[in-house]
Amino acid sequence: MSECTVTTFDFGGTNMRAATVSVKGFEWRVLDRQHRPTPNYLLAPHISAGQRLDDLLDFLTGYASSSRLRFGAEAVVAAIPGPIQGAGTVLALATILGPDSQALCPIDLAAQISSRLPEMQVKVMNDVSAAGYRFVPKGDDFAIFTLGSGIGLKVFLDGQPRVGPHGLGGELTHMVFDARPGAPLCDCGGRGHLGALASGRAWVRVETGAHEANCAPDLAGFTEPLARAVAMLHFSLGLERFIFAGGLTEKLGEVLRTSIVENLPAQGWNVGQDWNAMVQLAPADDAHALIGGALAYRWSVMRSKDRTC
Ligand SMILES: [Zn+2]
Repeated sequence: MSECTVTTFDFGGTNMRAATVSVKGFEWRVLDRQHRPTPNYLLAPHISAGQRLDDLLDFLTGYASSSRLRFGAEAVVAAIPGPIQGAGTVLALATILGPDSQALCPIDLAAQISSRLPEMQVKVMNDVSAAGYRFVPKGDDFAIFTLGSGIGLKVFLDGQPRVGPHGLGGELTHMVFDARPGAPLCDCGGRGHLGALASGRAWVRVETGAHEANCAPDLAGFTEPLARAVAMLHFSLGLERFIFAGGLTEKLGEVLRTSIVENLPAQGWNVGQDWNAMVQLAPADDAHALIGGALAYRWSVMRSKDRTC
């Protein structure tokens, strides 16, 4: 089986990460990595959404060109924190472009990248889907939660992220988990959504409140909605693997995982489930979408059977 070299990008709200990844079957090697702060709307409010998009594309073009020269990379995969339609049209990119993102969206990002890098294959993906592909080789169905500034979620069945005909699969994070009128606001504008209760931004709020009250942050209360989401997926789909990744997960680590596990028996029917084995931490290397994006590209090429790589 031949080896394939892919340049991958993970555009987060805080950092733009790039890597060159070599893939052979289920095996992968990261050959090089680079990152740079994202020119997001909070850090650089003085520049327009169009300029921010140009900065992002300049970083992508520069690194991909050097990766092609240095490592022979043949393809570019861009993982984007927003919904993607068709072959690479970004429907919303508020995390990076800010409130005026909808003036630019939908953006045919795949076409824009292809016009800058005509000699390379191009794939544009949702970032949580890209991250999930890293965990496909183990073979079973699973859900991946990324706890960063917000929360990302995707369910993988038979090796594929399931998003449904309108792309809403995984948006459990925008379901109401706290129906009280004063529940915290979500980035989407809704109140009491999972994303408003158990994200990185929510943890900052909990820590700040605890500091002001001179007490320890209520981690058990914080992880209860996450445990409820895990239980919903377990009882509705029979999933038995729940992978937690993202900046907040890397920060809190095993303490977070243990707290979710301890909240699970109270969420429903207990018939001998090994909750402790089901809830897992992803490796804390901040490279899931970079590695998973390369694997997704490689496997899509293998499925299309029109190329040898
Ligand atoms: Zn929401």
